[in-house]
Amino acid sequence: MSEIRYDLAVIGSGIVGLTSAFYIKKGNPDLKIVVIDKQHTFAQGQTGRSAAAFRDLFSSDTNYNLAASSIDFYSHIQKELGYDIGMRYTGYMFLLTEGNEKLPVLEELSKKTRTRTLGRDELENNGNIKLVPDRDVSEIMGLKEIVGGFIGLNCGIIEPDLLSKYYYEELIHMGVEFMFNTPVESISLEPFDKLDFPGEPFLWQKKTIGSLKTPRGDIVADTYVVATDVWSSELLDPIGIDCHIRPKKRQVFQVSGEEIEKMLFSSRFSESEIFPFTVLPSNSVYMRPAPREKSFWVGVADDIGRDFSFQDDPMAERRYYDYNIIQVIQSYIPAFSNSRVTGMWAGYYSYNTIDMNPYVFQTLNLIVATGTSGSGILKGDSVGRTVAALYNQEEYVNLTNNRKIKTSDLGVSERNVDRERFVL
Ligand SMILES: Cc1cc2nc3c(=O)[nH]c(=O)nc-3n(C[C@H](O)[C@H](O)[C@H](O)COP(=O)(O)OP(=O)(O)OC[C@H]3O[C@@H](n4cnc5c(N)ncnc54)[C@H](O)[C@@H]3O)c2cc1C
Repeated sequence: MSEIRYDLAVIGSGIVGLTSAFYIKKGNPDLKIVVIDKQHTFAQGQTGRSAAAFRDLFSSDTNYNLAASSIDFYSHIQKELGYDIGMRYTGYMFLLTEGNEKLPVLEELSKKTRTRTLGRDELENNGNIKLVPDRDVSEIMGLKEIVGGFIGLNCGIIEPDLLSKYYYEELIHMGVEFMFNTPVESISLEPFDKLDFPGEPFLWQKKTIGSLKTPRGDIVADTYVVATDVWSSELLDPIGIDCHIRPKKRQVFQVSGEEIEKMLFSSRFSESEIFPFTVLPSNSVYMRPAPREKSFWVGVADDIGRDFSFQDDPMAERRYYDYNIIQVIQSYIPAFSNSRVTGMWAGYYSYNTIDMNPYVFQTLNLIVATGTSGSGILKGDSVGRTVAALYNQEEYVNLTNNRKIKTSDLGVSERNVDRERFVL
């Protein structure tokens, strides 16, 4: 195979590549679009490794709008279109200690969305939460007493494989082509008007992205979308385009047990009767209910001490769970004392370390969408809408329920977002 020509080539079939192709094709049905991925099928990158919780609890208004709109649309897929994406409104609960720095932010959030504060009694009566950790652990580990809680109700869990499958099937139906098992080895920067001299493009020549080099041959398109998340710098650094992200390793441990199963399905904190996604007061250790697996997925947003190195296929570190996480979790949640790790995996956040909002910007005929900073599933639909608005040169991104953001807000040169104070 030598050269194939398209109107648009999207690199990456994670949630961002799928939603980008979806909204561009919806608005431009005649375009010939290809989605390329090095994996054998869609959603095998960070999308498939995600903890896949959703929340609209964000301090940045932009992040809030991106999240709230995506949640609305996912709810529409599940409820009105009847397509099961495993969406459950379990709630997103923060357990708080005296003077917790999250409290003022959470109080602000309660003005934007559905939330509820939880008193000591309600937490205690639930029977699964130990408000006062044993004195020896509290002294050694600095664990404090829980004095209350806060729950976001427009929050919960979703199945990223099913969500991705929805967009994938829609794209197939609309005639979008997929090229799997196709690694893009490089992006070729070329002169707009070729002179056929060696060494082109010269400094003074107008430049364009000419093609994508792959083992199947060159793929040529008028416009390219790079939706490769943490892999973006691998493709963009060689052509001098900065994607403004760092990779941050994140791990998930699946934990099961009889007590855990009981706790999982007997909760009165939210309408779903499933124990909420819960953030413990110490070091952002979290528990994500996984009813499909009758377990909890436990993770942590560790920061200082967790380096920015990157491996294509990282391993979860069992020792990290045994020496860092379990002590914290069983001090507050006794059901974890008789539990076992039944699975584990790891991935990366494409971390925008400055303001923790996504990036969607254009350089030449190339659009880059990255920097989802650990919440790309729950904002995926809106990021796709933003890519489409940029492709269509629209000033505003139309989100659901008449929400709008300026397309340039997520860009680089006219970026206009607040720094996010809530990254997990
Ligand atoms: C442990 C963990 C927990 C998380 N928890 C949550 C959560 O609870 N909620 C939430 O909303 N988000 C969460 N996230 C973040 C979320 O998973 C990401 O933000 C989201 O999946 C990013 O989607 P994406 O499409 O940009 O990237 P990806 O899904 O990684 O897609 C990029 C695609 O590009 C392909 N690709 C890369 N390089 C090339 C190349 N050279 N040629 C061809 N193809 C290429 C990859 O194969 C991949 O399929 C979590 C992430 C991790 C790691």
